[in-house]
Amino acid sequence: QAKARRGNALCFFDPQMQAAINERAQLESDLRQALASDQLVLHYQPQCTASGDVLGAECLVRWQHPERGLVPPGQFIPVAEGSDLILGIGQWVLRAACRQLAAWAHQADCARLRLSVNVSARQFRQDDFVCQVDRVLQTTGASAHLLTLELTESMVLDNVQDAIEKMDQLRAKGVQFALDDFGTGYSSLSYLTRLPLHTLKIDQSFVRHLGERPADNAIVQTIIGMGRNLDLAVIAEGVETQAQKDLLAGYGCDLYQGYLLGRPAPIEVLQALLAREVASAA
Ligand code: C2E
Ligand code: MG
Ligand code: MG
Ligand code: MG
Repeated sequence: QAKARRGNALCFFDPQMQAAINERAQLESDLRQALASDQLVLHYQPQCTASGDVLGAECLVRWQHPERGLVPPGQFIPVAEGSDLILGIGQWVLRAACRQLAAWAHQADCARLRLSVNVSARQFRQDDFVCQVDRVLQTTGASAHLLTLELTESMVLDNVQDAIEKMDQLRAKGVQFALDDFGTGYSSLSYLTRLPLHTLKIDQSFVRHLGERPADNAIVQTIIGMGRNLDLAVIAEGVETQAQKDLLAGYGCDLYQGYLLGRPAPIEVLQALLAREVASAA
C-alpha cells in the first residue's frame, strides 16, 4: 500500500503539506526582506575563564521582526540554510562581528576581547570562503587574531581535505577555529588531530545533566582530557548552575559559556559586564 501511495505522490494533494510549503516560502521572502532592511541583530554571549574574566563572546543572530518580535535563530536559520539566503545572513553576521572588533580596538578595556562567529555548511563549502573572510577583515579593519570561526564536525567531515586547506589559509592570517557542538556528531576521532583547531566546544546536551548522569560526567571528562592531550582549549556550553561549573573546573575545563555567566544579549549588556569587571579589578 505504501508503495502504491508513493507511486501516486505527484497527484496526491495534501493541504497540510501545501500550507507548510506556503509558510516556508513566506518565511523565505520575509527573510530576504529582513536582510535588505537591516532587521537582523547580533546578541553576544560572554565566554569566561574559570576565575570569571571575560575572554570574549559568541555572536548569536536574531531577527527583529516588525510583528513577531525577536525571533530566535532556530526558527529561521534552518530555513535560510535551505537556500542561498544563509550566504547573505552569514556575510551580514561576519561583517557585524568584525565591525564590532574594529570598534573595540580603540577602547582600552575592550581591545583584547575575542568574538566567535558561527559558520554554516553552505558558507564554508563555497570555493571563495577564505577570500570572503579575508575581504571582511580587510574592509572592517578587524584583527584576524581576535576572530574565532565555529564549525561543526559534519561540515568538516563533508570534505576533510578541503576543510583543512581552508582552515590552514585562514589560520595563517591569525583566525582561530572552534569545533561547535562537539560530541553530538560523528565523533570520528582520527580526523581531530589533522585539523588546525584551537578549541573544542562541549555541547550543552552533555553539560545539562552533569552531576546527575554518570555517563555524561564521563563523556565531559573524556573530552576535556582529549583537549588537553591534543593541546586544544576546551569550552563548555550551556553552563547554567554553579554546581555544573564546579564539576567542569574540577575536570580542568578552560572556558565557560552559559546562562550562569551571562545570557546572549545586546552589546550594551556585554559592555556593562566588562565595565563592572574593570571597576572591581581597580
Ligand atoms: P550554538 O552555536 O551551539 O549556540 C549555542 C546556543 O545555546 C545559543 O542558542 C545560546 O543562546 C544557547 N545557550 C547558551 N547558553 C545556554 C544555557 O546556559 N542554557 C541553555 N538552555 N541554552 C544556552 P541560540 O542563540 O538560540 O542559537 C541556536 C543555534 O543557532 C546556534 O547554536 C547556532 O547553531 C545557530 N546560530 C546562531 N547564530 C548563528 C549565525 O550567525 N549563523 C549561523 N550559521 N548559525 C547561527
Ligand atoms: Mg556556536
Ligand atoms: Mg554550540
Ligand atoms: Mg548548539
